[in-house]
Amino acid sequence: MRLILLGPPGAGKGTQAQRLCDIYGIIQLSTGDMLRAAVSAGTDIGLKAKGLMEAGELVPDTLVIQIVDERTNQPDAQKGFILDGFPRTVAQAEALDVMLLAKKLKLNAVIELKVDETKLIDRIIKRASDAKAAGHPVRKDDDADVFKTRLLAYHQQTAPLSAYYAGKGSLKTVDGMESVDDVTAALKEILG
Ligand code: ADP
Repeated sequence: MRLILLGPPGAGKGTQAQRLCDIYGIIQLSTGDMLRAAVSAGTDIGLKAKGLMEAGELVPDTLVIQIVDERTNQPDAQKGFILDGFPRTVAQAEALDVMLLAKKLKLNAVIELKVDETKLIDRIIKRASDAKAAGHPVRKDDDADVFKTRLLAYHQQTAPLSAYYAGKGSLKTVDGMESVDDVTAALKEILG
């Protein structure tokens, strides 16, 4: 199964992706996680991405496209994957189409988590305080000011993807304001 989860930052893509991976035995490909790993490891890609990520801006398309292309070739991705945080621009979506065609793969679904954006900032603040309480590192971009930049980037660069996939007839939507379990149940119903 190959799936794309769309939705603004804080919509719950990562939480739901993890659950779907357990249910369907596929892997989660989060470009955010992969980029954070590259930043920690201090690779070339990480050095290029660090400042942009900390400011809440998107990293260049070519970087993430390269990461996803390489990652989807790994043996553990052959059973299927959930793309979380990618594509994030129409150029990335077009590159993904070309990539999948070359690999002779098709997407099973593109699902958008619809959320009330006035509630997102609370979720992000909670994510930061939960991480701190658990002794985990707090993401530098989980901060109220940076969050505004992330939401702006989402509106300007990522929201147009809904129309892109709706135009292809492949977009489904789920209410992301329901409980975590209810959102998972709605996703399962779509995926069968
Ligand atoms: P969230 O979903 O909470 O916004 P992510 O972990 O997906 O956060 O992404 C964190 C940051 O990593 C983004 O703000 C951006 O700087 C960078 N990033 C992640 N995925 C992409 C992508 N597909 N294209 C460009 N930048 C990305």
